Amino acid sequence: MPFAAPPPTIDDVRAAARRLHGHAHRTPVLRSATADARTGASIFFKCENLQRMGAFKFRGAYNAIAKLAPAQRGAGVVAFSSGNHAQAVALAARELGSKAVVVMPDDAPAAKLAATREYGAEIVTYDRSSESREAIAQRLAGERGLTLVPPFDHDDVIAGQATAALELFEDAGALDALFVPLGGGGLLAGSLLAAEALAPDCAVFGVEPEAGDDGRQSLRRGEIVTIGLPRTIADGAMTAQLGIRTFPIIRRRVRDVVTVDDARLVQAMRFFAERMKIVVEPTGCLGAAAVFAGTLGLHGKRVGVILSGGNVDLERYGRWIGRGASSNEAPAGGDAAATD
Ligand SMILES: *Cc1c(COP(=O)(O)O)cnc(C)c1O
Repeated sequence: MPFAAPPPTIDDVRAAARRLHGHAHRTPVLRSATADARTGASIFFKCENLQRMGAFKFRGAYNAIAKLAPAQRGAGVVAFSSGNHAQAVALAARELGSKAVVVMPDDAPAAKLAATREYGAEIVTYDRSSESREAIAQRLAGERGLTLVPPFDHDDVIAGQATAALELFEDAGALDALFVPLGGGGLLAGSLLAAEALAPDCAVFGVEPEAGDDGRQSLRRGEIVTIGLPRTIADGAMTAQLGIRTFPIIRRRVRDVVTVDDARLVQAMRFFAERMKIVVEPTGCLGAAAVFAGTLGLHGKRVGVILSGGNVDLERYGRWIGRGASSNEAPAGGDAAATD
């Protein structure tokens, strides 16, 4: 692509914020005296676990669908996801008078299928072992004139996700550092666009699971590195690679990409439940876990943390929370953890 389009700008982010006004929650920024005391920092938690459908992904999906031409929106949208993006597209499409088709594996958890259906989406299941979801989504798009809404690698999605950090900078005031969970990089790229305009001195970090550090590798190598599907309880960050649209933004401005292991995610989940009375899913804990690890020299600093989501299977959550803070037998992830 010799003439790649320029990346989205702060004007796109502000336009997204106007579109989302009255449709997405302006989520609260919570504080914890205990978290501050333990880290020596002043921490501002942006609670996207309390966003509509339980994660920031509503922002990007809503912005992308709202920007479609009326005819496109009327024809409907398609997404492939078994996670938060599926519910985000389903709910956003319903709100905008569009209709969503979501392609999910036939062995997806029943609760996720039900939640996505409840938001009004049509679910098309496929057999993981013999079919590719991309191919099915493409075919549906062609046959039915649907528009594909990608989970992260799209400028309107990035601009929508950016509004979470935009609100945090507006509400918390100046921050020295910001920690953002990292999967495909929509949330991180968006946060960087917001920081560039509102908080140019703020050091923004991406945080990914130790088992899947493709973002860190990509940053070191200066090009997108693809890895095998990581095994981690952070299912929202089980991406094999950053996006073509997200990587250049990340590379341009991110301070660094750091990793945390699953045991630290479990500790963070316990902390949020016990001390702050909030449910945060494993992926949503990535930023916080990096800060709690205490190795990043944050003493005396004003630190923002995005808690990106709170959708978690309650049975697994109960086991994680009940297990004990210093456990080194944190679940290995995937379905293995569901049967132990
Ligand atoms: C999707 C997701 C992420 C990762 O977001 P990207 O834009 O793919 O980097 C982080 N946390 C939660 C809860 C998610 O659903």
